[in-house]
Amino acid sequence: MSTPTKFLLDESKMPRHWYNIAADLPAPLAPPLHPGTLQPLGPDDLAPLFPMELIMQEVSTEREIPIPEPVREVFRLWRPSPLVRAHRLEKALGTPAKIYYKYEGVSPAGSHKPNTAIPQAWYNAQAGIRKLSTETGAGQWGSSLSFAGALFGIEVLVFQVRISYDQKPYRRALMETYGARCLPSPSTETNCGRAILEKDPNHPGSLGIAISEAVEIAATNKDTNYALGSVLNHVLMHQSIIGLEAMQQFEMAGDDPDIVIGCTGGGSNFAGLAFPFLGQQLRGGRKRRIIAAEPAACPSLTRGKFAYDFGDTAHLTPLTKMHTLGSTFTPPGFHAGGLRYHGMAPMVSHLKELGLIEAVAFHQKACFEAGVTFARAEGIVPAPEANHAVRAAIDEALRCKAEGRSEVIVFNLSGHGHFDMSAYSAYFGDKLVDQPYDEKELAMALSGLPAVPA
Ligand SMILES: *Cc1c(COP(=O)(O)O)cnc(C)c1O
Repeated sequence: MSTPTKFLLDESKMPRHWYNIAADLPAPLAPPLHPGTLQPLGPDDLAPLFPMELIMQEVSTEREIPIPEPVREVFRLWRPSPLVRAHRLEKALGTPAKIYYKYEGVSPAGSHKPNTAIPQAWYNAQAGIRKLSTETGAGQWGSSLSFAGALFGIEVLVFQVRISYDQKPYRRALMETYGARCLPSPSTETNCGRAILEKDPNHPGSLGIAISEAVEIAATNKDTNYALGSVLNHVLMHQSIIGLEAMQQFEMAGDDPDIVIGCTGGGSNFAGLAFPFLGQQLRGGRKRRIIAAEPAACPSLTRGKFAYDFGDTAHLTPLTKMHTLGSTFTPPGFHAGGLRYHGMAPMVSHLKELGLIEAVAFHQKACFEAGVTFARAEGIVPAPEANHAVRAAIDEALRCKAEGRSEVIVFNLSGHGHFDMSAYSAYFGDKLVDQPYDEKELAMALSGLPAVPA
């Protein structure tokens, strides 16, 4: 082929700063509220859970925050990650559109999540913390934090959502390989886990419950902090390295995306690719379409309510204003475990409300179909979560074909699916069901939204 396929940045070009979109917002975020007093949260309220450096990043409005050199040292193991032109996918679709993907599956854990696990573990280690507790859905975040803990001498305890724990034994083995302890959630180790098991011993678990368990452990143990793999401002900011690299790579390619796409669970890989591009627009640069792709079975951005809600089921976390399906909502057990969260990053929700980003929702069969098309053209088997972004990119490329337009599309291929092959087997065996979310359960979960004074 006459035009290049891979755009590789030299290690010396790896970004030295993260990009913080809070600096460029046209209207500020609604403040997070204390779960007890419902008053705006102060930095000290978060001190039992997070080191002060991360708390300051969470509330920062500085545009650029330096990436510590020891963190960049670790990133060199896999970063800069490649930007790839999907020539063969374009040909298979017969589209005049140009499709690029930023591939985050090259990290040791196989996804974008180490981009924040490494700095989070490092800042905790700097603050003298020796134990971290966390939750994981599909196991991607748990294995990323376990890897980071191994590098910085931190013990990691992971509460894995029960249904994923059962479906994905190899993710647990990976966490244990890195030296972490992994428990199915709900577990008998916490008050909130025990309370849920008492009512339903076979509860499949949810991210909301697993977060409650991990937060309870951190809040009740002085030597233990908590780490979250998505949703929070500082997590989204750590992921901005993806978009900052992609911008340099598009310069190398002599191209510029018209459409930027990411899948959304809590919003971090989407934000990581999209926010640096969106920031350029907010500072007077060109406008692009920015699309978040989510599961139709857990459709927080497209069908959730924009309201203050808790981040967890036991209501231990602060309230944030976001698109929510209600903190007691238990999404059906579809295969993109990393997207089964009732809420959304407040920053992503805010931008959706401001009309600066779009959102689409897809059923899982259509996503696996897109993932298989991608794999047969480009070779990489995407994670089930990433298949939502692949679906959105293919749909846009097919629209371009119908309209005869050669738009430039980039999507975040947030991870590979090597630990998710049982989901692919289920797809090939025609065992996947497109579950709509349950209207009745949703209405019930939303009726329980906390009343917050205006
Ligand atoms: C966790 C995960 C996601 C969803 O999380 P976000 O914070 O929305 O990015 C998406 N893709 C992969 C591969 C994941 O591991």
